[in-house]
Amino acid sequence: MSEQDIEQYRVHEAPYYRPVGDELELYRAAYDARMPVMLKGPTGCGKSRFVEYMAYELGRPLITVACNEDMTAADLIGRYLLDADGTRWQDGPLTTAARIGAICYLDEVVEARQDTTVVIHPLTDHRRTLPLEKKGELVHAHQDFHLVISYNPGYQSLLKDLKQSTKQRFGALDFSYPEAAVEAEVVAHEGGVDAQTADKLVQIAHRARNLKGHGLDEGISTRLLVYAASLIAKGIAPAAACTMTLVRPLTDDPDMRETLDQAVATYF
Ligand code: ADP
Repeated sequence: MSEQDIEQYRVHEAPYYRPVGDELELYRAAYDARMPVMLKGPTGCGKSRFVEYMAYELGRPLITVACNEDMTAADLIGRYLLDADGTRWQDGPLTTAARIGAICYLDEVVEARQDTTVVIHPLTDHRRTLPLEKKGELVHAHQDFHLVISYNPGYQSLLKDLKQSTKQRFGALDFSYPEAAVEAEVVAHEGGVDAQTADKLVQIAHRARNLKGHGLDEGISTRLLVYAASLIAKGIAPAAACTMTLVRPLTDDPDMRETLDQAVATYF
């Protein structure tokens, strides 16, 4: 792969990331030890942003794969394609990352079927290899290659979980919504609203998060708060902005919507 091709995976500008605890230091140490890392936490709490930030800080290209249940091992590793000249092998994103020494981020890896997930095993232990069986090649990972996966413990059921043999190949960092003051700082920065508005949005989220497990599957994420703030910054009335971003996406249950609308009305 040419330098130019690698260039497309580089993070050129420093992403805004507000550290929440000791995650920067821990990730750095894990990277230095080439220990694969699992980021655990609900959707929209900053996991992807954190990986982007670390890729920038470490000067590594970043290849992100959004995993889904239809994904096959070939989607990660690669496959033969037919073109005018016959068949041609095309590396998948995991293989590319292993070759060029990128950070490979498998987002929501639990969505992938277990037979897909096991292809990462040889890359996560001392072997640091990736067998391309169809091609008859054993790829030795570049020394800078690093594997990161994300995992939302809230969604897991007995049917859908990572195997212990997969889990126990990773060091894990817990992510959750940051404490109120920090989250408000993030919302103000990302959404372009004043501190007072950001505070109110965070208060609404706190109320909604208490409803998790009592009619809501998941609380309002930091991402949704940033959405609400962005609409307010564009001049939309706060109540309407909150309805669109904090209430409607979350639930279709009329009672729950009303409860959330009331929470919004307390603040705006
Ligand atoms: P996840 O990968 O956990 O689903 P993201 O990383 O995409 O979530 O975060 C969603 C949004 O929340 C980001 O786009 C960013 O605006 C904001 N965000 C959350 N936490 C932070 C943080 N600690 N620093 C900066 N931005 C954050």
